[in-house]
Amino acid sequence: MTDILKAIELRKDYRLPRGKTLRALDNVSLTVRSGEVLGLVGESGCGKSTLGRCLLRLTDLSSGTILFENQDISRMNDRALRPVRRQMQMVFQDSYAALNPKRRIGDLITEPLRVHPDENGQKRSRQVIEARLYELMDLVSLPRSALARYPHEFSGGQRQRINIARALALSPRLIVADEPVSALDVSVQAQIVNLFTDLKEQLGLTYVFIAHDLAVVRQISTRVAVMYLGAIVELGDTDTVMQRPAHPYTAALISAVPQPVIGADDRRILLHGDVPSPISPPSGCRFHTRCPKAETRCSQDAPQLRLIGNNHEVSCHFPNI
Ligand code: SF4
Ligand code: MG
Repeated sequence: MTDILKAIELRKDYRLPRGKTLRALDNVSLTVRSGEVLGLVGESGCGKSTLGRCLLRLTDLSSGTILFENQDISRMNDRALRPVRRQMQMVFQDSYAALNPKRRIGDLITEPLRVHPDENGQKRSRQVIEARLYELMDLVSLPRSALARYPHEFSGGQRQRINIARALALSPRLIVADEPVSALDVSVQAQIVNLFTDLKEQLGLTYVFIAHDLAVVRQISTRVAVMYLGAIVELGDTDTVMQRPAHPYTAALISAVPQPVIGADDRRILLHGDVPSPISPPSGCRFHTRCPKAETRCSQDAPQLRLIGNNHEVSCHFPNI
């Protein structure tokens, strides 16, 4: 598998009043392989969405490098980014906020086709746009009768189909989906996850799939990255990470999911205390204030992500192996 995207030592800081800094991403490195679904999990506020947005350059980095198909896009300006942007799209959790309520569905889906020129730098004709619109509606199973209607007339699941059609309009290669099913009813969630899977097969897409629901991630992802307080703490094949989590935080997250879903060991690991503030993160290992396995070294010495098995990386001094 070739790499479609490579992130190297990404940092994202937000300046706060009184000289304080919130480090939302701390030294994040990861590779997205062409054709895979990389699941990104962790509690809310751990930096998943920030990472997703930074990968697509929707948010500027403080430092670090992003290579998209071997091209350094980390510091490209908007103009230089335009041709790259069509290759990578984002689908958001809030299907309603992502759609202008005053525009009809047909307009919303075709907007990217009107804004961006085609491969030859030409404006698309009305016929071309219309033909593509029907293709997109079929891909996401939306009826033609939806075209002249407005976003509020649809259910959350249908609105997410509209967002997906819009994201697909320019035939991207990479989609970052930020909790795309979290706001939906469970039965609808399954339909949208299946739609993502079908589209990936049909169109040869690559996904970074952000979710806090491990069952959903298990279902769709080939690999998983687990985040805690702005850093990746574990990365590996989905089955390995779900069945034999090496990082104590991953083990705790998984133990909180009803076990028939995940199929791992069934002892619940309770974490004490809250997630510390990213404004003043703990010294050493960021997880040491809550880690059931912490030892003296953990509060002094920050572990680095390192390979502990086939495709399996973990940042912990005392991983479960
Ligand atoms: Fe726990 Fe120490 Fe590993 Fe951090 S390095 S996860 S505190 S055992
Ligand atoms: Mg988020």
